[in-house]
Amino acid sequence: MTVTETHCPYCALQCGIALTPEIPRVRLEPTEFPVNRGGLCAKGWTAAELLDHKDRLLTPLVRKDPADRGSPLREASWDEAYERIVAGIERCQREYGPDSVGAFGGGGLTNEKAYTLGKFVRVALRSASIDYNGRFCMSSAATAANRALGVDRGLPFPLEDVAQARTVLLVGANPADAMPPSMQYLDAGRAEGARHIVVDPRRTPTAAGAYRHLQPLPGTDLALANGLLHIAVREGLVDEDYIRDRTTGFEGVRAAVAAYWPERVERMTGVSEADLRETVRLLATERPSMILTARGAEQHSNGTDTAQAYLNLALALGLVGRPYSGYGTITGQGNGQGGREHGQKADQLPGYRRLDDPAARAHVAGVWGVDPDELPQPGKSAYEMLDRLGTDGGVRALLVLASNMAVSAPHAGHVIERLRALDLLVVSDIFLSETAALADVVLPTAQFAEEEGTMTNLEGRVIRRRMALPPPPDVRTDLQFLSGLADRLGRGRFFSDDPRTVFDELRRASAGGIADYAGITYERIEAEQGVFWPCPAEDHPGTPRLFADTFPTADGRARFVRVEHRDPHEMPDRDYPYVLTTGRNMQQYQSGNQTRRVSALTVSLPEPRVELHPDLARRLGIADSDMVELSSRRGRAVFRARLNPGIRPDTVFAPFHWGGDQAVNLLTDPALDRHSKMPAFKACAVAITKGTPR
Ligand code: SF4
Repeated sequence: MTVTETHCPYCALQCGIALTPEIPRVRLEPTEFPVNRGGLCAKGWTAAELLDHKDRLLTPLVRKDPADRGSPLREASWDEAYERIVAGIERCQREYGPDSVGAFGGGGLTNEKAYTLGKFVRVALRSASIDYNGRFCMSSAATAANRALGVDRGLPFPLEDVAQARTVLLVGANPADAMPPSMQYLDAGRAEGARHIVVDPRRTPTAAGAYRHLQPLPGTDLALANGLLHIAVREGLVDEDYIRDRTTGFEGVRAAVAAYWPERVERMTGVSEADLRETVRLLATERPSMILTARGAEQHSNGTDTAQAYLNLALALGLVGRPYSGYGTITGQGNGQGGREHGQKADQLPGYRRLDDPAARAHVAGVWGVDPDELPQPGKSAYEMLDRLGTDGGVRALLVLASNMAVSAPHAGHVIERLRALDLLVVSDIFLSETAALADVVLPTAQFAEEEGTMTNLEGRVIRRRMALPPPPDVRTDLQFLSGLADRLGRGRFFSDDPRTVFDELRRASAGGIADYAGITYERIEAEQGVFWPCPAEDHPGTPRLFADTFPTADGRARFVRVEHRDPHEMPDRDYPYVLTTGRNMQQYQSGNQTRRVSALTVSLPEPRVELHPDLARRLGIADSDMVELSSRRGRAVFRARLNPGIRPDTVFAPFHWGGDQAVNLLTDPALDRHSKMPAFKACAVAITKGTPR
């Protein structure tokens, strides 16, 4: 039997797995790849179930009556599917202009597919309308890191460095549930006496194992960071030499944090002054130390400034660029890192270049063989695009790859309405997701074990996804779909469906950019167990650790940015008196389109549970396992209750992996961060009532 070494299809850890095609099912085992070192979580162990799942899409589907979205989907040939797509695109562009046709991508696409999708929209459609679900995931941390450090690479050091840190501050991060094999690094540090402090309104498994758990009110993480820096300044813990030699802008920040005295921050956040003082003293004195943020801190209407506040703290303590120290953000989606580097963002070209930069346009247009003036200008961000689907000036025809926004977008009820208003919705997926169920045309796409390509994990390590078996006969890769569609639009000469050819073009397009892949080849990735970008030449070793000597900014210095606490966009009031925050369960991944179909995972967790404190439950007459209805200004959702003494009594938590009336995003607030356009997923106001049994 041929054994193929590749990677788990799910999260950004990209654990190594070995696949052996066997009858009746592909055998899946972990490998000793450097990130997981033989470990896998329940999702990874069961990933092979996806390959021959009974729900698998095996042929294209189209509406029986093309003019009636309510008519049933029926099987169709690829030719018929293409005819419907091309007719819809041409009609929309004729009637409403080029930008009326757009695409929505995903952080699960391989680098080759993300790159091709961005190029397809700009070159084949000549449209500005593209963004992706990473806007809902990493955009705030990415914006802050670009602003402060001149580059956005989630972890600017290998994961193994975490094990060497004596102090780790984890803010809004729950790796014990989100990516369990990564806990081996935290556990190894703890076994050597390291102290970990977790900031989370809920006592997660990560918090339960930590040295200290701080439980702020959701939406106050920025005030907490400024409070920590205030104490550091007052106690002489900041690294004045580092600030002088390697940064700019500290005086403005020093002045700003003067107003965040500990008693005030304790009132704002609910975290005691003693815990604040202990935390910053450990970070400053028990070194090496590092600060890691994740979505709990970042998915807010002030998410960029919140990530910036922790960057300010890390810089002031002189952590960034020192061994086993620094600031990092923990990427979520499988290719969340590579997915945001190669041009599927509304404002971006490959190599992490800006679409509004004339030099970047000229370089990429040269690689693509088009005139720079032909390239559109930046388009709308993800929610701004979804909010206007089917309206005057909005997108009328949408291609969706690797995304299920009917479940994962904020204010999901509104997004579903907008999807229904489209003239043409085309969804490529492996299963009939909630979004695909609304589509005019559904395309069956190849899975992780059926395609070649590259992914970039949370460390910036570029790795190979390898084919272990061919896709079913009528299933195509997204590269085949896009190049075939480009062909039918008369632009086929610009596109290839061969991953290696696309990667070689991506290398040239990224050359000289921030995310420089020029020196990375498929052969090197295989030989070296992944290559860290930037890697500008084939004889360059790659860059596992950034910032040791300089920052990729104009003056080589990191930048402090003054940031101030603002209340969340929506605060509790008489009608909606509680704060809702959202997050992950260990058994599920993203919108659950894949993991909700895996039997072992659904047996272990068949439905979402809303977590609330026993004191709050008692006041509301709710017992454990009762049905509970949550309502916000935007909608209602129904969950079974789980009483959790480890959550703040003013806060409830619900996971985001389910659709229908269990979709927590029916409730969430689409208020956008002004810098990153990240919605405020992690704090909105809700009412709670005891519901009726399902
Ligand atoms: Fe897959 Fe992530 Fe689990 Fe690893 S931690 S097995 S990559 S889901």
